Amino acid sequence: MSYDKPIPIPDTLSEGHWAAARSGVLTVQRCLHCSHYAHPPEPLCRVCRSLDARFEWQKVSGEGRLKSWTFLRNAMIPAFNDELPIAIGVVELREQAGLLMLGRIVPANAIGSLPPLSPGMPVTAKFEHVTATVSLVRFAPVAAA
Ligand SMILES: [Zn+2]
Repeated sequence: MSYDKPIPIPDTLSEGHWAAARSGVLTVQRCLHCSHYAHPPEPLCRVCRSLDARFEWQKVSGEGRLKSWTFLRNAMIPAFNDELPIAIGVVELREQAGLLMLGRIVPANAIGSLPPLSPGMPVTAKFEHVTATVSLVRFAPVAAA
């Protein structure tokens, strides 16, 4: 079955993220001078402002906390209609305060349903491999122990 929804187009700045995502690995750009994480990736480090900008794609845990979210209830693109409502969250990754990543909030497993969302709820990254070249990060609530 083909994926009929819009997908991100990797560019030279973001290709490292997408390449890792294809392998199910979440990475974030990290400055080699000051170790600051930046997402989305940036051409220059906003923290150390080094004129010799060099970065690596650092594997991160995928663990974070839900900062905010919204439910998409009306799709501007008809291809999403069969998935409504869609929960879209802002997740703060545990590696750095303020390191935010957007992603769809999904049930922890294929047959599950979303629990009530709450600020600070722990979530973990998972991937949806939508095409041969693009895998999208999703975040699933972590079940309370
Ligand atoms: Zn830096």
